[in-house]
Amino acid sequence: MKGLAMLEIGEIGWIEKERPTYGPRDAIVKPLALAPCTSDVHTVWEGAIGERHDLILGHEALGVVDEVGSEVRDFKPGDRVIVPAITPDWETEAAQRGYPSQTGGPLGGWKFSNFKDGVFGEFFHVNLADYNLAHLPEGMSLEAGVMLPDMLSTGFMGAENAKIEFGASVAVLGIGPVGLSAIAGAKLRGAGRIFAVGTRPAAVNVAKEYGATDIINYKEGDTAEQIRNKTGGAGVDAVIIAGGGPDILMDAIRAARPGSVISNINYFGQGMGDEDTIPLPRVAWGFGMADKNIMTGLCPGGRVRMERLAEVVMHGRMDPSLMATHVFKGFDKLEEALLLMKEKPRDLIKPVVIVEQ
Ligand code: NAD
Ligand code: ZN
Repeated sequence: MKGLAMLEIGEIGWIEKERPTYGPRDAIVKPLALAPCTSDVHTVWEGAIGERHDLILGHEALGVVDEVGSEVRDFKPGDRVIVPAITPDWETEAAQRGYPSQTGGPLGGWKFSNFKDGVFGEFFHVNLADYNLAHLPEGMSLEAGVMLPDMLSTGFMGAENAKIEFGASVAVLGIGPVGLSAIAGAKLRGAGRIFAVGTRPAAVNVAKEYGATDIINYKEGDTAEQIRNKTGGAGVDAVIIAGGGPDILMDAIRAARPGSVISNINYFGQGMGDEDTIPLPRVAWGFGMADKNIMTGLCPGGRVRMERLAEVVMHGRMDPSLMATHVFKGFDKLEEALLLMKEKPRDLIKPVVIVEQ
């Protein structure tokens, strides 16, 4: 079978691989719709998780079940499914402690395109199918559905971890598809004022649609200062970080008030050494004592998460398809879509590849 792979750091290409094998509780799935992620860009072009050779990329997919193991109960060949980006081993100790995304070590629930072939192949393997697949609801568009495995799950987690109370003020730094999903999540969690920090006009429009009340242009002034000026000097109750470079925590902590949560969903790329660090503003952080608490998390995966996100969409709470700005038809278009995600033209929010209808 054919797949779009990371050949080595900085290089992608199409490769031939054996079709994956599967165990009694697993499934083999064919892609129906796929989306490249900014994380694929960090992985390939920044070497953010280290070297990988001939690893098939991709972790955002809708699919059609092709084969199932003998013990799979709820899925059969031909079923249309949502495939979460994160497919934990649900019996493990980390899952039982409530951290399924971290099974088998930090980020261990992230298998596709991390340490196992991803979803950008003609077929891909899903472990524990009954726990890691969800049925694609009748009537959900592929453009909307393909945002669930990662964009909605991660963005909403950003809002969940931010512990937003009714009427709370929230700033979202970075309004790509992850930050936009976080804005929608913050609104659904009851935020009052929502500051969207970004510049791209297409993203700004969707940010407003999803619930942003104020747009902050970080290129025209200091982000934290602009937010503090608009909040009577106080800062916000929660900051969700969904973009920016290694020093973005400086903006976040300076924009936050005491008693806040800084909820990071950003993937800090580049470098694999213990000496790689990211700065915090010592004074604005109250010398480490200002009750400005940093939360982190990897996208939640699994079946129940996908089913719940599908409920949000199917009952009209938000429309994720607004983020699908560039829609390609055909598996062969994957490379173009991934390169577009790398280039990030100004009118791009998220490219989507519809493999079949
Ligand atoms: P994106 O690149 O489309 O969006 C980020 C935006 O932030 C860009 O538009 C960029 O111009 C902007 N930005 C840069 N510097 C900024 C600054 N100082 N202030 C405000 N905005 C700034 O990316 P995305 O696809 O939305 O993903 C966002 C991040 O989330 C990426 O790092 C991605 O790898 C990560 N991610 C994490 C998880 C997770 O499980 N935690 C899952 C998916 C993606
Ligand atoms: Zn991703």
